[in-house]
Amino acid sequence: MATGHIFDIKEFSVNDGPGIRTTVFFRGCPLRCIWCHNPEGLERGRGVLVRQNGCLHCGRCRIPCDHPECRGLGRCLHACPMGLIEELGREWDAKSLAERLMRDAELYASSGGGVTLSGGEPLLQYEFAIELLRLLPVHKAIETSGFASGEVFKRVLDEVDYVMMDIKLADSEAHRRYTGVDNAPILENFKRLKESGKPYLIRVPLIPDITDTTENLSKIATVVGDSPVELLPYNRMAGAKYPSVGKTFTDLITKTENNPIDLSVFQNATLRRDAH
Ligand code: SF4
Ligand code: SF4
Repeated sequence: MATGHIFDIKEFSVNDGPGIRTTVFFRGCPLRCIWCHNPEGLERGRGVLVRQNGCLHCGRCRIPCDHPECRGLGRCLHACPMGLIEELGREWDAKSLAERLMRDAELYASSGGGVTLSGGEPLLQYEFAIELLRLLPVHKAIETSGFASGEVFKRVLDEVDYVMMDIKLADSEAHRRYTGVDNAPILENFKRLKESGKPYLIRVPLIPDITDTTENLSKIATVVGDSPVELLPYNRMAGAKYPSVGKTFTDLITKTENNPIDLSVFQNATLRRDAH
């Protein structure tokens, strides 16, 4: 049975697809969007979260530790006198995770909800995702960057009922600069999504002066045509979690407020009120 690394399971989600849902956050993402607000989901496999508030800088967590739970993490999970260290995420087998998610089957049924795979990027652990999806007799959705081979994308698409997919930047060079990858596979997968006939929503994160320019939004509008689009305001707290996972937030986002958004460039777009 396939196993996968999950860094969070969020119950009672109302923004991750229809109805009330449980959202499963997969660890690992091939992109490095400079605005990512889930840095704890970027790396694959095991990791460590070190909360910064209250750290005594005593260094005990850095003393080499051979405990089986700490091996390979570069930190001792048990030495912190302030209890600031925890393992990031957990490895699940598909059957155990499906049983855990189906505990709320009645809630999904009564609210028209279900389970949503998110991340990180769930397509990166596609074999585990497919096995999990096949064990879930409920409405299934995925939140994805769309960055995967066409074959992987189609295989996962076959298993879900609803897709929320990002298109962040229409220009390929800008996409490489701000997300670390080319947007060609994403645009190809968008075509596959459209042709599949599955219900979907295109999401555009609005990053000040980077993705929220009229030029970028107009180009995305041309690509998506009459597809439903949701625009997500910039999350000003995006950088908050970076130090606790040993990463540094970008200094390339110099504004914290979005520019005025011209929704009329789209045929079918809504602007979400809360931040992404
Ligand atoms: S053991 Fe805890 S208090 Fe000491 S340096 Fe590590 S995180 Fe900070
Ligand atoms: S695709 Fe999502 S999870 Fe991956 S880096 Fe971009 S914002 Fe973060």
